[in-house]
Amino acid sequence: MAENTSNKKIWLASPHMSDEGYEMQYVQEAFDTNWVAPLGPNVNEFEKELAAKVGSEHAAAMTSGTGAIHLALKAAGVGKGDIVFCPTLTFSATANPIIYQNATPVFIDSDYETWNMNPKALEAALEKYSYKVKAVLVVHLYGLSADMDKIMEICSRYNVIVIEDAAESLGAYYKGRHTGTFGEFGVFSFNGNKIITTSGGGMLVSDDEEKIKKVRFWSTQSRDAAMHYQHSELGFNYRMSNVVAGIGRGQLKILDQRVAKKKYIFEFYKRELGQLEGVDFMPINDWNEPNYWLSVMTLKGSLRPLDVIEALEKENIESRPVWKPMHMQPFFAEYDYVGGNVSEKLFENGVCLPSDTKMTDEDLERICRIIKELW
Ligand SMILES: *Cc1c(COP(=O)(O)O)cnc(C)c1O
Repeated sequence: MAENTSNKKIWLASPHMSDEGYEMQYVQEAFDTNWVAPLGPNVNEFEKELAAKVGSEHAAAMTSGTGAIHLALKAAGVGKGDIVFCPTLTFSATANPIIYQNATPVFIDSDYETWNMNPKALEAALEKYSYKVKAVLVVHLYGLSADMDKIMEICSRYNVIVIEDAAESLGAYYKGRHTGTFGEFGVFSFNGNKIITTSGGGMLVSDDEEKIKKVRFWSTQSRDAAMHYQHSELGFNYRMSNVVAGIGRGQLKILDQRVAKKKYIFEFYKRELGQLEGVDFMPINDWNEPNYWLSVMTLKGSLRPLDVIEALEKENIESRPVWKPMHMQPFFAEYDYVGGNVSEKLFENGVCLPSDTKMTDEDLERICRIIKELW
């Protein structure tokens, strides 16, 4: 039979180790030297290498991106009763740490130009809450950068701290500068589905050395300099292990290759599916050099995202709707929301297409064939 009837599983985004085996080399070193625990050279080097890659002065490696957001909020002085702005169109891990700090999230709508925080809605929200806002969390969703010039200008005018959740945007640049390096703090994630992974992990970056040192202290149980385990501050167990950091060092070496493949995947879909009636793709602006972490298309005809997702699912292929906005989540429903219906529309009409970097051209053709058959 000429036609490819393969039923091979295709993931949305799954771990992809280097062909060269860099990750195992660093992990092996950790075993050979018994730096399995506690911290060790891989953690120190991974911090330096990631900071250099993104152009930040300092970095602290953590067990997760969520933990890094949590301690960024704490380092920014966010505490009980403070208001923190957060885009509504994001993954819940952006918003949860606001609650961990007993602060109050206010959700901000997206715009169609960036899919990220709408600067106009941000300004309207700052007016509404006048001077009570402690910090603004900005997200670079799907590896598309937010409009940082506008957001930084507004935030400096209102004197609020900016923290960037760049969990999905490692390798993505805004006007030539790496996402996650505009605000006082930036956060990256190495969760299993991200562009590079350590199986699980995160990184906090900042140019403020004292703050990074403080985060390292908090994330290792806030142990004062004493033999007898003395604590004068609340502690956390959030520090990355030396084995995990070895995987990260190996993955970082091939980040650029992964970005190139993600871009190839996006352009493949755009070429093959862009002509279909009602199909559009996530916005790529001149100033935006995305990492194309996920390829996302939108539908405006009678075919709905679920039709596409179910057709792919039947063929053992994973895809997903656009993230459900936080202000529509039962858990966050009680918090305020500022903006229009952009994020709701993106959720209603968006499909995250399979974006796994291990896909071959044949896999991509198979996906496009299944989708085109629906039209
Ligand atoms: C993955 C992700 C996080 C959380 O990172 P973890 O390392 O999984 O804790 C936070 N924000 C966004 C937008 C993410 O996609």
